[in-house]
Amino acid sequence: MKNYPQKFEKKELMITINRMGINGEGLGYYKKKIMFIPGALPGEVVIARIIKENPRYIEGALVRIKKASPDRVKFPAGVDPTVGGLELAHLDYAKQLKFKTDIIRESLEKFHPRNYTKYKIKNTIPAPAQWHYRAKASYQVERRGGKLKLGLYRPNSHDLIDLPKMPTQSPLTQTIIRQIGAIITDLDMPVFDIRTHPFGIKTVVVREAFATKEVQVTIITVGNKIPQLKQFAEAIMKIEHVKSVFHNVTEIENKKMWGYHTEKLLGQDKITEKLLDKEFKLSPEAFFQLNPEQTKNLYELALKNLDLTPDDTLIDAYSGVGTIGILAADRVKKVIGMETIPEAVEDAKQNVKLNNVKNADYLVGKAERILPELKEEGLNFDALIVDPPRTGLDRQLIKTILDVAPKTFVYISCNPSTLARDLVTLTDKYDVRLIQSIDMFPQTARVEAVVKLVLRDK
Ligand code: SAH
Repeated sequence: MKNYPQKFEKKELMITINRMGINGEGLGYYKKKIMFIPGALPGEVVIARIIKENPRYIEGALVRIKKASPDRVKFPAGVDPTVGGLELAHLDYAKQLKFKTDIIRESLEKFHPRNYTKYKIKNTIPAPAQWHYRAKASYQVERRGGKLKLGLYRPNSHDLIDLPKMPTQSPLTQTIIRQIGAIITDLDMPVFDIRTHPFGIKTVVVREAFATKEVQVTIITVGNKIPQLKQFAEAIMKIEHVKSVFHNVTEIENKKMWGYHTEKLLGQDKITEKLLDKEFKLSPEAFFQLNPEQTKNLYELALKNLDLTPDDTLIDAYSGVGTIGILAADRVKKVIGMETIPEAVEDAKQNVKLNNVKNADYLVGKAERILPELKEEGLNFDALIVDPPRTGLDRQLIKTILDVAPKTFVYISCNPSTLARDLVTLTDKYDVRLIQSIDMFPQTARVEAVVKLVLRDK
């Protein structure tokens, strides 16, 4: 298995793997220093090389396996094992689920929020599909020596891995991305290259609505004067299932994937996804869960643990296109959602109307700014759901939550570390009744969990 980069120490080391790290790597020791070896499993003896030695740990690369773990399964054929997003694909699925529960326990042990040893941590709920579950692909584009690549960067590197196959990606998104690649070549479209080509296509984003099979394509370019863009969009529109083509413009300096300006080139404004009995329209910039099949279960789990009553005012604090609040609306008196991306809030407002919901409002802005304002204006809320990005909750938001002290509260977390950190303060007033992880991303090390918090009787 030759999956190490070009620069590495030639010397081969024999390492015994003791456990797994937070990103799914195998962990062993070399001269008493911890060594991370992606692709290696606990109990294995492997041959590895040093890629980089840091003061406190060593980054290693797997060369070959001397003694394999019984939990090892065959890695999907024809895919580079070092590509991001398949960190656990060599591990038996039942063990992947166990890994995800263990990571939550380890995070709690690191931050030890109040009473953490007594929390009820339930086994991770498996995903309905272990493969081909991702509804969106955001692939980088590169052309070197006339050869076009569409894929993902090897983590922490500038090596783009071409992905003619990606086993977690929905077949439709995968096929369409390759068709777009063929059009790039046919029309000889300019492709951005930091060294040789200062403008051109940088990323292709393809999003599928699973329920309707509608597909939305966004072409992200560096620079906005792209020759033949119109012909390019017309050719993409001819691909079956494609409903619209958008153009997003970014700059070389921008570290994020998306630039600030998006315009529609052709087709309809939004695609429609359905979850449970509701419909959701999606703009290109708006966040939507990447695994729609499992998202139904995630939302049902979250709502079940909220214990809503008809008189409640519910806050949906990181609302995206309004999914959770709209699903909860008929169980409460009022829903107020908030979200930083204006397009997503526009979508949420439209989705409210589309689903005939009369009691939900969505506001643009940061939850940590809006919620204290609502409190100052005298609004009290009884129920709260937060679904923050990996950074977790802002201090100011936690302070407001503890001030208002809603009686029921669900925290959906996609990062066990920030969850455990936030629970340290939240448990000043709340008891953690349940932590239920649910696998949104099979084959990856990503962990998602629903946490039920109940206001403590004083
Ligand atoms: N609950 C939604 C979205 C979850 S993703 C769903 O399930 O689809 C997290 C969302 O929070 C993203 O849409 C992101 O744009 C938004 N966001 C990020 N920082 C925020 C902040 N400080 N305040 C409010 N929303 C924020």
